[in-house]
Amino acid sequence: MNTDKNKVAIVTGASRGIGAAIATRLADDGFTVVINYAGSASEADALVEAIEARGGRAIAAQADVSDPAAVARMFDAAQAAFGGIDVLVNNAGIMKLATVTDSDDALFDRQVAINLKGTFNTLREAAKRLREGGRIVNLSSSVVGLYQPTYAAYAATKAGVEAMTHVLSKELRGRSITVNAIAPGPTATALFLDGKPQAVVDRLAKLAPLERLGQPEDIAAAVSFLAGPDGAWINGQVIRANGGII
Ligand code: NAP
Repeated sequence: MNTDKNKVAIVTGASRGIGAAIATRLADDGFTVVINYAGSASEADALVEAIEARGGRAIAAQADVSDPAAVARMFDAAQAAFGGIDVLVNNAGIMKLATVTDSDDALFDRQVAINLKGTFNTLREAAKRLREGGRIVNLSSSVVGLYQPTYAAYAATKAGVEAMTHVLSKELRGRSITVNAIAPGPTATALFLDGKPQAVVDRLAKLAPLERLGQPEDIAAAVSFLAGPDGAWINGQVIRANGGII
């Protein structure tokens, strides 16, 4: 629970899925939340309304994270609106699955542009601008470790996100800013469910000893911990939130 009402969190890809749950949780924790999205304006606006109805403070901010200029503008707007930024949650991401043999250039390039370069773009702005005591939480995936067939490009982007997490935590020495990653397992969102037959979903849901899919709120709880006072001593770590799948 963040009792300082002036703390500001940017959550990328917060219009839907895990990002929307993270934005809701951080708003409940007392953060003013910037709800970034790429295309889902109506979902982002509806989430702002829902957060305000719960007594929270939020704004929606369109920016394709793969566009460095758009990301810089979003940080400018957040600073202008709220005076500073304390937390960045790098949640925006896409997943396109195919074997290496069957992957085309677009599948590879798009995932690198959004998941890897997009994360780099926001990390660079956050590294320049986050206030002392700030927090950065990147979304990796438990496929880094599981390494199943068809996940090569996606897992490579997330392994890169983990590498940047470790390096940036060291580069920010002396500023009391932590940099960590959460690596979810299968979580019930469009990214995971779309295009999968129910039998595949059921099989993957049973992989974890806890025998269910993760819910967006499970991941939001882990992010809340890292962004709040109780997470202060965790730095440069990747925490898997996956019910014990790996
Ligand atoms: P999701 O339901 O598909 O939502 C993705 C979000 O990212 C949407 O809000 C989308 O906004 C946004 N987004 C996509 N491209 C963007 C871009 N270029 N710029 C800004 N925002 C963009 O996905 P999710 O399952 O919540 O996944 C969230 C994160 O968790 C991702 O990084 C994913 O890799 C990771 N993850 C998910 C799972 C899982 O099983 N679900 C497991 C491990 C890790 P628009 O609708 O506006 O485009």
